[in-house]
Amino acid sequence: MSSDHPHRKLHVMFFPFMAYGHMIPTLDLAKLFSSRGAKSTILTTPLNSKILQKPIDTFKNLNPSLEIEIQIFDFPCVELGLPEGCENVDFFISKNNDDERHYMIFKFFMTTMFFKDQLEKLLETTRPDCLIADMFFPWATEAAEKFHVPRLVFHGTGYFSLCSAYCIRVNKPQTRVASSCEAFVIPDLPGDIVITQEEIIDGDEESEMGKFMIAVRESEVKSSGVIVNSFYDLEPDYADFYKSVVAKRAWHIGPLSVYNRGFEEKAERGKKANIDEVECLKWLGSRKPDSVIYISFGSMACFKNEQLLEIATGLEASGKNFIWVVRKNDGDKGEKEEWLPEGFEERVKEKGMIIRGWAPQVLILDHQATGGFVTHCGWNSILEGVAAGIPMVTWPVEAEQFYNEKLVTQVLRTGVSVGARKNVKVMGDVVDKAVREVLVGEEAEERRRRAKKLAKMAKAAVEEGGSSFNDLNSFIQEFSS
Ligand code: UDP
Repeated sequence: MSSDHPHRKLHVMFFPFMAYGHMIPTLDLAKLFSSRGAKSTILTTPLNSKILQKPIDTFKNLNPSLEIEIQIFDFPCVELGLPEGCENVDFFISKNNDDERHYMIFKFFMTTMFFKDQLEKLLETTRPDCLIADMFFPWATEAAEKFHVPRLVFHGTGYFSLCSAYCIRVNKPQTRVASSCEAFVIPDLPGDIVITQEEIIDGDEESEMGKFMIAVRESEVKSSGVIVNSFYDLEPDYADFYKSVVAKRAWHIGPLSVYNRGFEEKAERGKKANIDEVECLKWLGSRKPDSVIYISFGSMACFKNEQLLEIATGLEASGKNFIWVVRKNDGDKGEKEEWLPEGFEERVKEKGMIIRGWAPQVLILDHQATGGFVTHCGWNSILEGVAAGIPMVTWPVEAEQFYNEKLVTQVLRTGVSVGARKNVKVMGDVVDKAVREVLVGEEAEERRRRAKKLAKMAKAAVEEGGSSFNDLNSFIQEFSS
């Protein structure tokens, strides 16, 4: 909290959706508020509290006077019709069958309604100054309203994708094209952004998921505003458009990942890595600057063997250094890893490494040897890549990731697209070409120059006087009074 504006201690409650891509930035957000003098309480379930406790303990050890705590809500999975221990979307990643996985994830979304009573009781007894609840908890606005607690929405994505989705929803341009691969400009959206129908994922409004998303939007309209993990200079036109056209109120406070400055804080975001972090950094330290490509598809995307085989083929053909993170279905685990070409690891052992499971992503991206990032365009990954000043190979898999790709390739111009389409395999030669294109050559240097400039802006945004610093200040002042 700014010393010029002494206010009483603000109490903020945070309620993240139980998925790594939502919990990681929310934890950063809670730490940020606490480091600016607020008391932060994170609401979550018993198993998810275990994920959050270690980074919170580290934060408290570093900052003993700051206040941050977890409040645990009951979540009786079996009673709710979910498998035992299923408290995080991560639980479903190992489901082999796509349909089964989607069905279970939807069911998971619906069962979170169970929290409403517990949330109401807690709000009634504690009366925090505000509740920053995930977009996927549409019932939270009404729950908070009952006790006159302002509810803020946290989407976890940036301005650009929120604006794109809005313009497409309002104008429905995809209904006027002759074919699903015909490119068109998104109406009303600044920047003449080109997209195709097959990249638009705002599904059928009549479907159960479509109805749920309508409820999400309605609850946002009734909320007190939106907290956005972004910074003004990254997407100024879209920040302005969002604030003036789409949302009632919005505050940007990111990029949240950059507040983690020490080794431990960077290493402890999410799961325990399936590699020794020090060894990983040592390996990177033995490589030339900007020579390593890092490949990761976030916490949710899980490719089939035939797609992984193409990635392996492309990486080997590129001849570049790499760190490749692979999340696999349990059903595919066996003695023999069918997703790797025969003898692959032996042949590439001087060049690269595969991390099976979870990687210390921010540590890797921030290392000077890392020169490119093949990403599924999840918003946290994009921001982490931006903050590290790294050009990207964009490979969206689902949801708003296709919009995020357009920001990187058409607005920031720091990325090369593999031309991904839902359920279409990307071939090895495309991977090979994109990896080489992003790492070497004149255009690669231009992209890198732009990426490094953005990284500087990202850091400046959170420093005193920066756009995110100021937005957070005004939020704190408004909700403290
Ligand atoms: N992440 C990580 N190691 C991994 C995979 C993911 O640390 O092996 C982190 C990553 O740094 C990011 C988050 O998990 O903070 C993933 O969020 P994102 O929005 O990129 O994608 P999602 O997983 O939600 O699709």
